[in-house]
Amino acid sequence: MSNGNEFKPAFLIKDFQAKQYSDLEFESPEKMSQLQDKLLSDHIKETVRKSPYYRALFKQHQLDGDSIQGISDLKKLPCTSKEDISRNNDDFVAASGEEISDICLTSATTSEKPTAVYQSLSDLSRLAYNEEAAFNMIGINPSDTVMVCAALDRCFMAGLAYYMGGLKKGATMVRAGSGSAAQQWQLIKRTQPTVLVGVPSLMRKIGDVALESGEKPDRIGIKKLVAIGEPLRDGDLNLMPAYATLETLWKARLYSTYASTEMATTFCECEERQGGHLRPELMVVEILDDDQKPVAAGDTGEVVVTPLGVTGMPLIRFQTGDISFLIEEACRCGRTSPRLGPVLGRKNHMLKLKGTTVFPSSILSVLEGIEGVTHAYIEAGKKADGTDRVISYVSVGAPSPSPEMMAETLRAHIRVVPEIKIISEEEATKKIFPREKRKKVTFFDLR
Ligand SMILES: [Zn+2]
Repeated sequence: MSNGNEFKPAFLIKDFQAKQYSDLEFESPEKMSQLQDKLLSDHIKETVRKSPYYRALFKQHQLDGDSIQGISDLKKLPCTSKEDISRNNDDFVAASGEEISDICLTSATTSEKPTAVYQSLSDLSRLAYNEEAAFNMIGINPSDTVMVCAALDRCFMAGLAYYMGGLKKGATMVRAGSGSAAQQWQLIKRTQPTVLVGVPSLMRKIGDVALESGEKPDRIGIKKLVAIGEPLRDGDLNLMPAYATLETLWKARLYSTYASTEMATTFCECEERQGGHLRPELMVVEILDDDQKPVAAGDTGEVVVTPLGVTGMPLIRFQTGDISFLIEEACRCGRTSPRLGPVLGRKNHMLKLKGTTVFPSSILSVLEGIEGVTHAYIEAGKKADGTDRVISYVSVGAPSPSPEMMAETLRAHIRVVPEIKIISEEEATKKIFPREKRKKVTFFDLR
C-alpha cells in the first residue's frame, strides 16, 4: 500500500505485469510463442505445486509438471471439463483463504449448480489488465464515459471486470448494473455515456424504450457498443442481420467480446472487427476435435484454454464447450496475435437435421433477423428412429412473417429447415426469460 493519503483500489496498486508486455501483440509469432512457452511452463509448475486437484491428477497419470517445456507438450496433459470443476470445486483452489479476495459464480447455464471461481488480489489485477487491454483495442480513452449495463454484484464476473478495466484505463465509469431498460435510458440521459457495455438484447430494449417515449437513441452520443454474452457474427465474420439493426438504432459501432468466468480472460475484437484477439501473455488457446486432438489451422473444434498467471484457481486445458476456429493470419490492424472466430455453438447443442450439422444459435440468428419476429426459441427432442427432432417456436409482431417465409429464409442461410410453430408473445417470453436464470434461455434440449 502507498504511504500517502491517496486512495487507490487494491487491484490498481498491484499492477499485473503491465509494462513487460505492452507491445507484445505486434511482435513476431516466434517471439510470442517463445514467451508463451515460458509462461506456460511456469504456470503448469506452479499449478501442480499448489492446486490439490492438479497435484492428484498429475500423480494419477504419472505426469511431471516440471517436464512441461511449452505449448508443444500440452497435448500430454488431460483436459479439464466444467463437470470436473463442478464435482471437485474446492480442490481447484490453489491459494490460501487469506490470499483469496473475491468469489465469482458462473451463471450456471450448463449445469444446475454454479461453479465458484476464487480470485486472489493478483487475479483481480490481472482481470483489470485484461479488460483495459480490450478497451485499448477498440480505442476507448480517458475522455470516454463507459456505462456498464451488467451486474457488478451477485458474484458476477463480467460487470466487475469491465468496471475495473475502465477505471484502469482512466475512463469515467457508470455502474448501471442490471436495472430495467427504462432506468438505463434515464441513466444514459443523465450521464451521457459514449460507450455502452452489455448484452445485445438489453441494448436493444433500452433503445426501444427511448423510441417509444419519442426520444432518439441515435442522437444521444453513444459511439461504441461492447457486446457480451452473444456472438455477433456468422462463420464468415459478417455481422448478423439482427445486430446490424442494433448499430442503426444507436448509430454506434458494435464490438464483440467472448469470455467466460472460468477463463477470466476476454477475446475482444479490434477496430477491424474480424475475430477476437488473443492476449498471448494471458492465455494459451487450442482448438480440439472430439478426441481432444488439435484440428488443422482454421478448422472448427472446441475452444480449450489455459489462462496464464491465475493464482486463485488456476486451470489447465479448460474445455469451454464452445465451438469456434482460430484465424492465424496477421490482422489488418497490425496485430500478429491469433484471433478467435465467433462461437458457432455449444458442443453439446449440436443438432443433426437430415444429415446436416447445425447449431441452435445459427437457426436463432436467422429467425431473429427476420423483420417482425419478436422472439424465438428452439426445442430439440429425439424421433422414434433416433434422429433429432427440432422445433422452432417463434412469436411475431407487425409485420407478421409466415412460417413459409421463415422456412425459405432458413433454407437460404443454413440449408436446413426445422419445424416452425408460431406462438404468442406471452408464451415466448415466459419460456425465454425464466425468473431463476440470469441469462435468457433459447434452447431446450430434451434429447
Ligand atoms: Zn486486429
